[in-house]
Amino acid sequence: IMEVCFSISFVANLIIGGNLVLQGKMSLGDFVAFNGYLTMIWIPIVSIGRVVTMFQRGMASFKRLNEIFDVEPQINDGEKMINTPIKGEIYINDLSFSYPGTQTKVLHNINIEIPKGSTLGIIGRSGSGKSTIVNLLLKLYNVERGKILIDGIDINDYQLKTLREGFGYAPQDNFLFSASIRDNITFFKDTYSDDDIIQATQDSCIHEHIVALDDGFDTVIGERGIDLSGGQKQRISIARAIIRNPAILILDDTLSAVDTITETRILKNLERIRKDKTTIIIAHRITAVQNADKIIVLENGRISEEGTYDELLRKRGTFYEIYLEQVDQAS
Ligand code: ADP
Repeated sequence: IMEVCFSISFVANLIIGGNLVLQGKMSLGDFVAFNGYLTMIWIPIVSIGRVVTMFQRGMASFKRLNEIFDVEPQINDGEKMINTPIKGEIYINDLSFSYPGTQTKVLHNINIEIPKGSTLGIIGRSGSGKSTIVNLLLKLYNVERGKILIDGIDINDYQLKTLREGFGYAPQDNFLFSASIRDNITFFKDTYSDDDIIQATQDSCIHEHIVALDDGFDTVIGERGIDLSGGQKQRISIARAIIRNPAILILDDTLSAVDTITETRILKNLERIRKDKTTIIIAHRITAVQNADKIIVLENGRISEEGTYDELLRKRGTFYEIYLEQVDQAS
């Protein structure tokens, strides 16, 4: 409206002022001066209009942001606010679980003991509840008291930050930011040295690929940059999880898109770097859990078998069936 008004006033000024000058009622100097002043006030007045518009847009966005800020988190710090760093012993005691708002139990009477420094493999078909166990360990959902103990302390007693700092988690659907590979690995923290980053990428077998790129670690990935294969993304996601050297490392089917030779190399590296730390490897492919200290097989939310790789093969149960299926597929 302001811009239209001003345009009209310029035209009016030309017609009326021009006529006054022609009639000799106004000097040409006054006319030119008036025109000059009109031009000078035009920009500030139009700016006021723009500021008002911007302010209104800002208020609308602020309202929407507040709706998010005002949401009360359903997952809170534990009552006792324990903040002793996690060492890595996990004890799951008769855990059953249904997702909030649903009636169906997705986990039934799960009992697992994972001593500090050991590796647990979890095998199971899609939908058997593997990720649900991890979601509960990370306290993404509330769990009843006494069901999950970490270092002998109920998960509900920990300060949320302390609890989550104890975990390094490479999820199934790894999320990479449209940023440099370096930032994706360090999660935008500048506390890691170049050596830390190199070590983590070597251990996750992605270092050679990164240095072969023109911009190396500064290569931007995602929408604004280059596209990576599923296996490369998974290895970056593993590097992100292991660079923190967490007490408990969880790989949730993070080796599925990696070829078997690289998978073996990564697992060997993990064995070396995680000697006294706890590791949980969830996998579809049983080669990923071959060297785990213990493997559990989940079926419809229940542990159907558990033991070492050799013990489970000897049992000739579900694990053996999955083994045969995968050997068939491979040959
Ligand atoms: P897996 O990791 O073995 O593929 P999940 O733990 O993801 O299995 O899923 C176990 C079961 O829980 C499935 O039946 C799935 O549909 C259900 N489920 C998973 N996530 C949710 C959710 N957020 N809300 C309701 N049900 C869920």
